[in-house]
Amino acid sequence: MLKKTLSDVELGGKRVLMRVDFNVPLSKDGDIVDDTRIKAALPSIEYAAGAGASIVLMSHLGRPKGKKDPEKSLKVVAYRLGELISCPVKFVADCIGPAVEEKTRGLKPGEVLLLENARYYSGETENDPEFAGRLAQWGDIYVNDAFGTAHRAHASTEGVARLFDTRVAGFLMEKELAVLGGLLTEPKRPFIAVLGGAKVSTKIGLIANLLERVDRILIGGGMAFSFFKAMGLEVGDSLVDDELVPLCGELMNKAGREKEKQIYLPVDCIVAKEAREDAEFKTVSTGDIHGGWMGVDIGEKTIDLFHEELKGARTVFWNGPMGIFEIPSFAGGTRRIARTIAEITASGANTVVGGGDSVAALNEMGLAGKVTHLSTGGGASLEFMEGKELPGVAVLENK
Ligand code: ADP
Ligand code: MG
Repeated sequence: MLKKTLSDVELGGKRVLMRVDFNVPLSKDGDIVDDTRIKAALPSIEYAAGAGASIVLMSHLGRPKGKKDPEKSLKVVAYRLGELISCPVKFVADCIGPAVEEKTRGLKPGEVLLLENARYYSGETENDPEFAGRLAQWGDIYVNDAFGTAHRAHASTEGVARLFDTRVAGFLMEKELAVLGGLLTEPKRPFIAVLGGAKVSTKIGLIANLLERVDRILIGGGMAFSFFKAMGLEVGDSLVDDELVPLCGELMNKAGREKEKQIYLPVDCIVAKEAREDAEFKTVSTGDIHGGWMGVDIGEKTIDLFHEELKGARTVFWNGPMGIFEIPSFAGGTRRIARTIAEITASGANTVVGGGDSVAALNEMGLAGKVTHLSTGGGASLEFMEGKELPGVAVLENK
Protein backbone atom coordinates (compact mmCIF):
# COMPACT_ATOMS: atom_id res chain seq x y z
CA MET A 1 0.00 0.00 0.00
CA LEU A 2 1.51 3.35 -1.06
CA LYS A 3 1.71 5.98 1.66
CA LYS A 4 1.18 9.71 1.35
CA THR A 5 4.41 11.67 1.62
CA LEU A 6 5.62 15.17 2.37
CA SER A 7 5.18 16.11 -1.28
CA ASP A 8 1.44 15.33 -1.08
CA VAL A 9 0.67 17.96 1.56
CA GLU A 10 0.44 21.73 1.79
CA LEU A 11 3.22 22.89 4.11
CA GLY A 12 3.29 26.70 3.92
CA GLY A 13 2.73 28.28 7.33
CA LYS A 14 2.16 24.89 8.97
CA ARG A 15 3.90 23.46 12.02
CA VAL A 16 5.34 20.08 11.11
CA LEU A 17 5.96 17.57 13.89
CA MET A 18 8.52 15.20 12.39
CA ARG A 19 9.82 11.94 13.87
CA VAL A 20 13.40 11.37 12.72
CA ASP A 21 15.94 8.72 13.59
CA PHE A 22 18.81 10.59 15.23
CA ASN A 23 19.90 7.56 17.23
CA VAL A 24 23.55 8.10 16.31
CA PRO A 25 26.50 6.21 17.79
CA LEU A 26 28.39 8.28 20.38
CA SER A 27 32.00 7.89 21.55
CA LYS A 28 32.91 7.59 25.25
CA ASP A 29 33.52 11.35 25.24
CA GLY A 30 30.04 11.94 23.86
CA ASP A 31 31.08 12.86 20.30
CA ILE A 32 29.09 11.68 17.29
CA VAL A 33 30.99 8.79 15.71
CA ASP A 34 28.86 8.55 12.57
CA ASP A 35 26.39 11.19 11.38
CA THR A 36 24.88 9.14 8.53
CA ARG A 37 21.45 9.14 10.17
CA ILE A 38 21.43 12.92 10.59
CA LYS A 39 22.40 13.38 6.94
CA ALA A 40 19.73 10.91 5.86
CA ALA A 41 17.00 13.11 7.39
CA LEU A 42 18.17 16.34 5.73
CA PRO A 43 16.11 16.07 2.50
CA SER A 44 12.79 15.97 4.39
CA ILE A 45 13.75 18.73 6.83
CA GLU A 46 15.10 21.01 4.09
CA TYR A 47 12.08 20.41 1.89
CA ALA A 48 9.61 21.28 4.65
CA ALA A 49 11.64 24.34 5.68
CA GLY A 50 11.88 25.46 2.05
CA ALA A 51 8.12 25.11 1.67
CA GLY A 52 7.57 27.55 4.54
CA ALA A 53 6.82 25.18 7.40
CA SER A 54 8.31 25.40 10.87
CA ILE A 55 9.66 22.04 11.97
CA VAL A 56 9.68 20.36 15.37
CA LEU A 57 11.87 17.27 15.34
CA MET A 58 11.62 14.39 17.76
CA SER A 59 13.86 11.34 18.11
CA HIS A 60 15.25 8.91 20.60
CA LEU A 61 18.91 8.30 21.39
CA GLY A 62 20.00 5.05 23.01
CA ARG A 63 18.02 3.51 25.83
CA PRO A 64 17.73 5.91 28.77
CA LYS A 65 14.82 3.78 30.03
CA GLY A 66 12.51 6.62 31.03
CA LYS A 67 15.18 8.62 32.88
CA LYS A 68 16.84 11.94 32.06
CA ASP A 69 20.31 10.58 31.34
CA PRO A 70 22.60 13.45 30.23
CA GLU A 71 24.80 10.96 28.34
CA LYS A 72 21.87 10.27 26.02
CA SER A 73 21.05 13.91 25.29
CA LEU A 74 20.27 14.96 21.73
CA LYS A 75 21.93 18.35 22.30
CA VAL A 76 25.10 17.22 20.52
CA VAL A 77 22.92 16.20 17.55
CA ALA A 78 21.35 19.67 17.43
CA TYR A 79 24.83 21.18 17.04
CA ARG A 80 25.74 18.77 14.27
CA LEU A 81 22.42 19.33 12.50
CA GLY A 82 23.05 23.07 12.65
CA GLU A 83 26.38 22.55 10.88
CA LEU A 84 24.83 20.37 8.17
CA ILE A 85 21.73 22.41 7.37
CA SER A 86 21.26 25.96 6.14
CA CYS A 87 18.22 26.83 8.29
CA PRO A 88 18.49 27.87 11.96
CA VAL A 89 18.38 24.94 14.41
CA LYS A 90 17.21 25.36 18.00
CA PHE A 91 17.20 22.83 20.82
CA VAL A 92 15.04 22.46 23.90
CA ALA A 93 16.06 20.30 26.84
CA ASP A 94 12.72 18.50 27.09
CA CYS A 95 10.15 17.03 24.73
CA ILE A 96 6.99 17.99 26.62
CA GLY A 97 6.09 20.77 29.07
CA PRO A 98 6.30 24.56 29.35
CA ALA A 99 9.85 24.97 27.98
CA VAL A 100 8.80 23.26 24.75
CA GLU A 101 5.58 25.23 24.64
CA GLU A 102 7.52 28.48 24.78
CA LYS A 103 10.05 27.48 22.11
CA THR A 104 7.47 26.14 19.70
CA ARG A 105 5.41 29.30 20.07
CA GLY A 106 8.33 31.42 18.89
CA LEU A 107 9.19 29.15 15.96
CA LYS A 108 9.06 30.90 12.56
CA PRO A 109 8.59 29.39 9.07
CA GLY A 110 11.84 27.78 7.93
CA GLU A 111 13.09 27.27 11.50
CA VAL A 112 13.87 23.93 13.08
CA LEU A 113 13.52 22.93 16.73
CA LEU A 114 14.92 19.62 17.99
CA LEU A 115 13.25 18.23 21.11
CA GLU A 116 15.18 16.31 23.77
CA ASN A 117 15.26 12.48 23.72
CA ALA A 118 11.71 11.12 23.74
CA ARG A 119 12.87 8.07 25.70
CA TYR A 120 13.59 10.26 28.74
CA TYR A 121 9.92 9.41 29.40
CA SER A 122 8.76 5.81 29.79
CA GLY A 123 5.53 6.84 28.04
CA GLU A 124 7.51 6.79 24.80
CA THR A 125 8.26 3.06 24.64
CA GLU A 126 5.00 2.23 26.44
CA ASN A 127 3.11 4.11 23.71
CA ASP A 128 1.22 5.90 26.46
CA PRO A 129 -1.75 7.82 24.95
CA GLU A 130 -1.38 10.64 27.45
CA PHE A 131 2.29 11.16 26.55
CA ALA A 132 1.44 10.91 22.85
CA GLY A 133 -1.21 13.58 23.36
CA ARG A 134 1.34 15.93 24.90
CA LEU A 135 3.71 15.43 21.95
CA ALA A 136 0.88 16.00 19.49
CA GLN A 137 0.50 19.61 20.67
CA TRP A 138 3.66 20.63 18.82
CA GLY A 139 2.42 20.28 15.27
CA ASP A 140 -0.42 20.66 12.76
CA ILE A 141 0.94 17.89 10.52
CA TYR A 142 2.73 14.68 11.46
CA VAL A 143 5.60 13.33 9.39
CA ASN A 144 7.47 10.11 10.08
CA ASP A 145 10.90 9.87 8.47
CA ALA A 146 12.32 7.40 11.00
CA PHE A 147 12.15 4.15 9.09
CA GLY A 148 14.64 2.59 11.52
CA THR A 149 12.13 2.74 14.39
CA ALA A 150 8.96 2.13 12.38
CA HIS A 151 8.80 -1.46 13.63
CA ARG A 152 8.18 -0.17 17.14
CA ALA A 153 4.74 1.03 18.23
CA HIS A 154 6.02 3.87 20.41
CA ALA A 155 4.36 7.17 21.29
CA SER A 156 6.44 9.22 18.83
CA THR A 157 6.11 6.68 16.01
CA GLU A 158 2.58 5.37 16.40
CA GLY A 159 0.47 6.81 19.22
CA VAL A 160 1.05 10.42 18.26
CA ALA A 161 0.34 9.78 14.58
CA ARG A 162 -3.19 8.63 15.40
CA LEU A 163 -3.96 12.10 16.74
CA PHE A 164 -3.34 13.82 13.39
CA ASP A 165 -5.58 14.05 10.34
CA THR A 166 -2.50 14.62 8.19
CA ARG A 167 0.12 11.91 8.86
CA VAL A 168 2.57 11.23 6.06
CA ALA A 169 5.92 9.63 5.30
CA GLY A 170 9.13 11.62 4.93
CA PHE A 171 11.39 11.06 1.95
CA LEU A 172 13.73 8.60 3.66
CA MET A 173 10.77 6.51 4.78
CA GLU A 174 9.29 6.75 1.27
CA LYS A 175 12.54 5.54 -0.33
CA GLU A 176 12.94 2.61 2.07
CA LEU A 177 9.36 1.49 1.51
CA ALA A 178 9.72 1.79 -2.26
CA VAL A 179 13.02 -0.10 -2.46
CA LEU A 180 12.26 -2.87 0.03
CA GLY A 181 8.66 -3.12 -1.17
CA GLY A 182 9.95 -3.49 -4.72
CA LEU A 183 12.08 -6.46 -3.68
CA LEU A 184 9.05 -8.23 -2.25
CA THR A 185 6.66 -7.47 -5.08
CA GLU A 186 8.45 -7.14 -8.41
CA PRO A 187 12.11 -8.16 -8.30
CA LYS A 188 14.05 -8.68 -11.53
CA ARG A 189 15.06 -12.32 -11.63
CA PRO A 190 17.09 -14.20 -10.70
CA PHE A 191 16.64 -12.78 -7.20
CA ILE A 192 19.20 -14.04 -4.70
CA ALA A 193 19.26 -13.42 -0.96
CA VAL A 194 22.55 -13.64 0.93
CA LEU A 195 22.03 -14.15 4.64
CA GLY A 196 24.50 -14.41 7.47
CA GLY A 197 25.23 -12.99 10.87
CA ALA A 198 24.92 -14.40 14.31
CA LYS A 199 21.37 -14.95 15.45
CA VAL A 200 19.18 -17.37 13.53
CA SER A 201 16.38 -16.66 15.99
CA THR A 202 15.93 -13.09 14.72
CA LYS A 203 16.15 -14.16 11.09
CA ILE A 204 14.25 -17.41 10.77
CA GLY A 205 11.05 -15.55 9.80
CA LEU A 206 13.03 -13.67 7.20
CA ILE A 207 14.33 -16.89 5.68
CA ALA A 208 10.83 -18.34 5.58
CA ASN A 209 9.33 -15.30 3.86
CA LEU A 210 12.22 -14.94 1.41
CA LEU A 211 11.99 -18.61 0.42
CA GLU A 212 8.58 -17.79 -1.05
CA ARG A 213 9.97 -14.91 -3.07
CA VAL A 214 13.59 -15.45 -4.08
CA ASP A 215 15.17 -17.85 -6.53
CA ARG A 216 17.97 -18.82 -4.16
CA ILE A 217 19.18 -18.17 -0.62
CA LEU A 218 22.90 -18.28 0.12
CA ILE A 219 23.51 -18.79 3.83
CA GLY A 220 26.81 -18.05 5.57
CA GLY A 221 27.90 -16.64 8.91
CA GLY A 222 27.03 -18.11 12.27
CA MET A 223 23.48 -19.03 11.24
CA ALA A 224 24.75 -21.73 8.86
CA PHE A 225 25.67 -24.01 11.75
CA SER A 226 22.12 -24.45 13.00
CA PHE A 227 21.27 -25.69 9.49
CA PHE A 228 24.27 -28.07 9.53
CA LYS A 229 23.16 -29.42 12.85
CA ALA A 230 19.67 -29.96 11.42
CA MET A 231 21.29 -32.01 8.65
CA GLY A 232 22.99 -34.16 11.27
CA LEU A 233 26.48 -32.80 10.56
CA GLU A 234 29.13 -32.20 13.18
CA VAL A 235 29.61 -28.55 14.03
CA GLY A 236 32.16 -28.71 16.86
CA ASP A 237 32.02 -25.60 19.03
CA SER A 238 30.35 -23.45 16.36
CA LEU A 239 27.48 -21.13 17.16
CA VAL A 240 24.22 -23.13 17.22
CA ASP A 241 20.73 -22.21 18.36
CA ASP A 242 19.47 -25.62 19.51
CA GLU A 243 15.87 -24.50 19.82
CA LEU A 244 15.76 -23.52 16.18
CA VAL A 245 17.48 -26.56 14.72
CA PRO A 246 14.18 -28.37 13.95
CA LEU A 247 12.82 -25.30 12.17
CA CYS A 248 16.01 -25.05 10.12
CA GLY A 249 15.46 -28.67 9.10
CA GLU A 250 11.89 -27.93 8.01
CA LEU A 251 13.00 -24.99 5.92
CA MET A 252 15.65 -27.15 4.23
CA ASN A 253 13.08 -29.79 3.35
CA LYS A 254 10.69 -27.20 2.02
CA ALA A 255 13.37 -25.64 -0.15
CA GLY A 256 14.44 -29.05 -1.41
CA ARG A 257 10.95 -29.96 -2.59
CA GLU A 258 10.64 -26.81 -4.63
CA LYS A 259 13.66 -27.39 -6.83
CA GLU A 260 14.18 -23.83 -8.01
CA LYS A 261 14.19 -22.34 -4.57
CA GLN A 262 17.15 -23.88 -2.95
CA ILE A 263 19.05 -22.95 0.12
CA TYR A 264 22.78 -22.96 -0.51
CA LEU A 265 24.95 -23.59 2.53
CA PRO A 266 28.74 -23.32 2.79
CA VAL A 267 30.68 -26.33 1.44
CA ASP A 268 33.75 -25.38 3.46
CA CYS A 269 34.51 -23.19 6.46
CA ILE A 270 37.40 -21.58 8.24
CA VAL A 271 37.49 -22.98 11.74
CA ALA A 272 39.46 -21.57 14.66
CA LYS A 273 40.30 -22.64 18.20
CA GLU A 274 38.91 -19.34 19.47
CA ALA A 275 37.33 -16.15 18.15
CA ARG A 276 40.61 -14.23 18.43
CA GLU A 277 42.92 -12.73 15.83
CA ASP A 278 45.92 -14.77 17.03
CA ALA A 279 44.01 -18.07 17.36
CA GLU A 280 45.05 -21.13 15.35
CA PHE A 281 42.82 -21.63 12.28
CA LYS A 282 42.41 -23.82 9.20
CA THR A 283 39.96 -24.55 6.38
CA VAL A 284 37.87 -27.72 6.56
CA SER A 285 34.99 -29.21 4.59
CA THR A 286 31.52 -28.82 6.00
CA GLY A 287 30.87 -31.74 8.30
CA ASP A 288 34.52 -31.95 9.36
CA ILE A 289 34.31 -29.55 12.26
CA HIS A 290 35.38 -31.32 15.41
CA GLY A 291 35.23 -30.50 19.12
CA GLY A 292 37.54 -27.67 20.12
CA TRP A 293 37.02 -25.87 16.79
CA MET A 294 34.43 -23.30 15.78
CA GLY A 295 33.36 -22.05 12.35
CA VAL A 296 34.40 -18.42 11.93
CA ASP A 297 34.12 -17.71 8.19
CA ILE A 298 33.13 -19.32 4.89
CA GLY A 299 35.95 -21.08 3.01
CA GLU A 300 37.44 -20.45 -0.46
CA LYS A 301 35.29 -23.02 -2.25
CA THR A 302 32.16 -21.49 -0.77
CA ILE A 303 33.29 -18.01 -1.76
CA ASP A 304 33.72 -19.26 -5.34
CA LEU A 305 30.33 -20.99 -5.30
CA PHE A 306 28.54 -17.91 -3.92
CA HIS A 307 30.45 -15.70 -6.37
CA GLU A 308 29.31 -17.81 -9.34
CA GLU A 309 25.69 -17.73 -8.18
CA LEU A 310 25.74 -13.99 -7.57
CA LYS A 311 27.27 -13.25 -10.98
CA GLY A 312 24.01 -14.27 -12.63
CA ALA A 313 21.74 -12.38 -10.23
CA ARG A 314 19.71 -9.35 -11.26
CA THR A 315 18.41 -8.61 -7.76
CA VAL A 316 20.27 -9.20 -4.49
CA PHE A 317 19.28 -8.68 -0.88
CA TRP A 318 22.16 -9.06 1.57
CA ASN A 319 21.87 -9.19 5.33
CA GLY A 320 24.47 -10.42 7.78
CA PRO A 321 28.23 -10.94 7.50
CA MET A 322 29.64 -14.27 6.28
CA GLY A 323 31.97 -14.63 9.27
CA ILE A 324 33.32 -12.91 12.36
CA PHE A 325 34.40 -9.99 10.19
CA GLU A 326 35.47 -7.83 13.15
CA ILE A 327 38.55 -10.08 13.29
CA PRO A 328 40.66 -9.43 10.14
CA SER A 329 41.68 -13.10 9.67
CA PHE A 330 38.00 -14.06 9.50
CA ALA A 331 36.77 -11.14 7.37
CA GLY A 332 37.74 -12.64 4.00
CA GLY A 333 34.36 -14.18 3.16
CA THR A 334 32.41 -11.04 4.02
CA ARG A 335 34.83 -8.86 2.09
CA ARG A 336 34.78 -11.03 -1.04
CA ILE A 337 30.99 -11.27 -1.07
CA ALA A 338 30.79 -7.47 -0.59
CA ARG A 339 33.11 -6.99 -3.55
CA THR A 340 31.08 -9.37 -5.73
CA ILE A 341 27.88 -7.51 -4.86
CA ALA A 342 29.56 -4.20 -5.77
CA GLU A 343 30.73 -5.71 -9.09
CA ILE A 344 27.32 -6.98 -10.13
CA THR A 345 25.82 -3.60 -9.17
CA ALA A 346 28.20 -1.99 -11.65
CA SER A 347 26.87 -4.32 -14.34
CA GLY A 348 23.26 -3.43 -13.67
CA ALA A 349 21.98 -5.64 -10.82
CA ASN A 350 19.68 -4.09 -8.20
CA THR A 351 21.44 -4.67 -4.87
CA VAL A 352 20.07 -3.86 -1.44
CA VAL A 353 21.98 -4.27 1.80
CA GLY A 354 20.29 -4.16 5.21
CA GLY A 355 21.54 -4.78 8.72
CA GLY A 356 23.87 -2.77 10.92
CA ASP A 357 26.87 -5.03 10.66
CA SER A 358 26.59 -5.72 6.93
CA VAL A 359 26.33 -1.99 6.26
CA ALA A 360 29.31 -1.39 8.57
CA ALA A 361 31.35 -3.94 6.60
CA LEU A 362 30.55 -2.15 3.33
CA ASN A 363 31.38 1.24 4.84
CA GLU A 364 34.68 -0.03 6.14
CA MET A 365 35.59 -1.27 2.66
CA GLY A 366 34.59 1.99 1.02
CA LEU A 367 31.91 0.16 -0.97
CA ALA A 368 28.87 1.89 0.54
CA GLY A 369 28.33 3.91 -2.65
CA LYS A 370 28.76 0.85 -4.87
CA VAL A 371 25.47 -0.87 -4.09
CA THR A 372 22.03 0.28 -5.21
CA HIS A 373 20.60 0.89 -1.75
CA LEU A 374 21.83 0.72 1.83
CA SER A 375 18.90 0.32 4.16
CA THR A 376 19.18 2.57 7.22
CA GLY A 377 16.80 0.52 9.33
CA GLY A 378 18.36 -2.61 10.81
CA GLY A 379 15.51 -4.32 12.66
CA ALA A 380 12.87 -2.44 10.68
CA SER A 381 14.25 -3.60 7.32
CA LEU A 382 14.35 -7.18 8.55
CA GLU A 383 10.78 -7.11 9.83
CA PHE A 384 9.61 -5.50 6.60
CA MET A 385 11.38 -8.17 4.55
CA GLU A 386 9.81 -10.79 6.82
CA GLY A 387 6.50 -9.55 5.44
CA LYS A 388 5.37 -7.96 8.71
CA GLU A 389 3.41 -4.74 8.79
CA LEU A 390 5.37 -2.04 10.62
CA PRO A 391 3.16 -0.13 13.12
CA GLY A 392 4.85 3.21 12.33
CA VAL A 393 4.05 2.70 8.65
CA ALA A 394 0.58 1.22 9.03
CA VAL A 395 -0.62 4.33 10.88
CA LEU A 396 0.34 6.71 8.03
CA GLU A 397 -2.25 7.80 5.44
CA ASN A 398 -2.56 5.76 2.28
CA LYS A 399 -2.24 7.48 -1.08
P1 ADP B 1 23.50 -7.54 10.75
O1 ADP B 1 23.76 -6.49 11.79
O2 ADP B 1 24.14 -7.21 9.44
O3 ADP B 1 22.04 -7.88 10.63
P2 ADP B 1 24.01 -9.63 12.67
O4 ADP B 1 23.92 -8.62 13.75
O5 ADP B 1 22.97 -10.66 12.53
O6 ADP B 1 24.21 -8.86 11.26
O7 ADP B 1 25.34 -10.45 12.81
C1 ADP B 1 26.59 -9.84 12.90
C2 ADP B 1 27.49 -10.61 13.80
O8 ADP B 1 27.55 -11.96 13.40
C3 ADP B 1 28.90 -10.09 13.78
O9 ADP B 1 29.20 -9.59 15.05
C4 ADP B 1 29.73 -11.31 13.44
O10 ADP B 1 30.92 -11.40 14.19
C5 ADP B 1 28.80 -12.45 13.79
N1 ADP B 1 29.14 -13.69 13.11
C6 ADP B 1 29.24 -13.91 11.80
N2 ADP B 1 29.64 -15.17 11.53
C7 ADP B 1 29.80 -15.77 12.73
C8 ADP B 1 30.21 -17.09 13.13
N3 ADP B 1 30.55 -18.01 12.23
N4 ADP B 1 30.24 -17.35 14.45
C9 ADP B 1 29.91 -16.40 15.35
N5 ADP B 1 29.52 -15.16 15.04
C10 ADP B 1 29.47 -14.84 13.74
MG1 MG C 1 23.90 -6.54 13.97
